[in-house]
Amino acid sequence: MTDKKKDIRALTKDQLRAFFVDQGDKAFRGNQVYEWLWKKAVYSFEDMTNIAKETRQLLEDNFVINHIRVDTMQRSSDGTIKNAVRLHDGLVVESVLIPTATRTTACVSSQVGCSLDCKFCATARLKRMRNLNPDEIYDQVVAIHNESRLYHNRPLSNIVFMGMGEPLMNYNNVIKAIDKITSKEGLAMSPKRITLSTSGIPKMIKKMADDGVKFNLAVSLHSAIDEVRTSIMPFNENFPLHDLKEALEYWYSKTKSRISYEYVVWKGINDTRKDIDALVQFCKYVPSKVNIIEYNPIDDGQFQQASSTALNLYIEELEKHRIVVNVRRSRGKDIDAACGQLANKT
Ligand code: SAH
Repeated sequence: MTDKKKDIRALTKDQLRAFFVDQGDKAFRGNQVYEWLWKKAVYSFEDMTNIAKETRQLLEDNFVINHIRVDTMQRSSDGTIKNAVRLHDGLVVESVLIPTATRTTACVSSQVGCSLDCKFCATARLKRMRNLNPDEIYDQVVAIHNESRLYHNRPLSNIVFMGMGEPLMNYNNVIKAIDKITSKEGLAMSPKRITLSTSGIPKMIKKMADDGVKFNLAVSLHSAIDEVRTSIMPFNENFPLHDLKEALEYWYSKTKSRISYEYVVWKGINDTRKDIDALVQFCKYVPSKVNIIEYNPIDDGQFQQASSTALNLYIEELEKHRIVVNVRRSRGKDIDAACGQLANKT
């Protein structure tokens, strides 16, 4: 932890090749080591079994592998697994494996804590400590991928950036991690199986569109009425719905990729006819679908899940307007692994 040596995974493949050439070795050695670091994702130089002992010692003398460590792993009765992940500087984030009949999804964190202040989210109560590095994000995925094979006998099929943090506030590192996840030298996963979930930062949504990203976009909407949204997601004051709408229109014009809106219905907050009408209207701006998420209580009852009557009215109205709507049951509640519950209780 106190090591002054350089993190070897901060090097590009070319830099690693150059290192070996400088040492009088072959550039190809760099490729081999790179594969151990990323595709095989080993935790130590010792594990690089086709690399000569002296070469491993050379690496040991010059570098460290700042790999994450899964400190504790909790398993829910529904098969959900939550990892408390310790970073090289001792901070902890959480990631979750969510198995269903057809998929195994990794839900990963992008920041330690969060800079936003959504009133209903446990992570918001931790202040943002720092952004995760690309490899710290990548490592979470690899850890879940391995657990998926070990405990569920199948590889990971999907990744969602719905863990701790706001991915668009750590954009560059998230993009680098996704590049690695989708590259042949990493996990070779299709970007179509990756979803980035954002609270909705208009400027960054436009940037993603300009960058031509190929993954899916989800927006945590929760209300299509400014006053209501600002009362539960205070940053909405600075990024009002009009700006969000404009950014989403821009996103769609560039990517032609449908947007998912994440939506929780709370008693006395957004459970009236007016709220439903506003959502229906918002859904008409760009091709989209709505995921209604069950509320996972995090406190003493300031927020409560709305009645099933209110939920059904939402579903009816959305369907009447031919808007696709899914209702998401929560997973892993017994281990505090459900949406909005990630807060390092351990
Ligand atoms: N910052 C990103 C990703 C993290 S939150 C975002 O805002 O999208 C992942 C999802 O969980 C978001 O849709 C968020 O609104 C939702 N969520 C947060 N707290 C929740 C809670 N207590 N119950 C249910 N969903 C919650």
